[in-house]
Amino acid sequence: MTLTNTTPRPLIAGNWKMNGLSAALDEARAVAAELDRQPAAARVAIFPPATLLHRLAEAVEGSFVLTGGQDCHDKRSGAHTGDISAEMIADAGGTLVIVGHSERRTDHGETCQHVAAKTEAAIAAGLEPIICVGESLAQREAGEAVAFVVGQLRNSLPVSLAGKTFNVAYEPLWAIGTGHVASVDNIVEMHAAIRAELIALFGEDGRAVQILYGGSVKPENAREILAAPEVGGALVGGASLKAKDFLAIIEAA
Ligand code: PEP
Repeated sequence: MTLTNTTPRPLIAGNWKMNGLSAALDEARAVAAELDRQPAAARVAIFPPATLLHRLAEAVEGSFVLTGGQDCHDKRSGAHTGDISAEMIADAGGTLVIVGHSERRTDHGETCQHVAAKTEAAIAAGLEPIICVGESLAQREAGEAVAFVVGQLRNSLPVSLAGKTFNVAYEPLWAIGTGHVASVDNIVEMHAAIRAELIALFGEDGRAVQILYGGSVKPENAREILAAPEVGGALVGGASLKAKDFLAIIEAA
């Protein structure tokens, strides 16, 4: 990506999902140490499991590595066993949060309305949300991918987002954790449709929203994906677990 003074820095976000015990903190430390040695063009964030968030935030404090939560509840507090609030993520040192990841939508039946409410909670807690959208293989094969994703996006964004900083991640379900990366043509078409919808919803502010691609991003394909029009970064799952691979993707941005 060629950066100008007005281009926002791409965001490279590592989603560890339900992976990582204490020893994994060393991977985050290794990323932070390398970025200290050689600062990156990209902003970099790691989303560890909730059990590691506080310790990871402390481990990388003062470095270029940001941290965040993989999900948040839409309420500030209360009787919601097993959940964590946006305020708790901020209190643990996180500054971002992923909402509406397809694994949350599938495993926990989260609807777009839930995602919009979680996004509102994230903004209220001062977090920068990454709102995920993406179609299934059946929807793509039926030629419904763009219409589905645009509708999902519209329903997942609360009106209160106007004027706030947030990101959208396009993650086709069939590309997540499968090794099947979307073609650059697919990505460009979808990101253009997402951008048009963001402008329709938020006017000129919609141009500033960064649209990340996610789905089997690896060191080998990162450079081509990140150079594509309207790709403002990457949401990386498996390849973010090892500092060496994650750093290679960061370096490609
Ligand atoms: C993800 O879950 O957000 C993701 C993109 O995973 P992976 O990179 O492993 O496909």
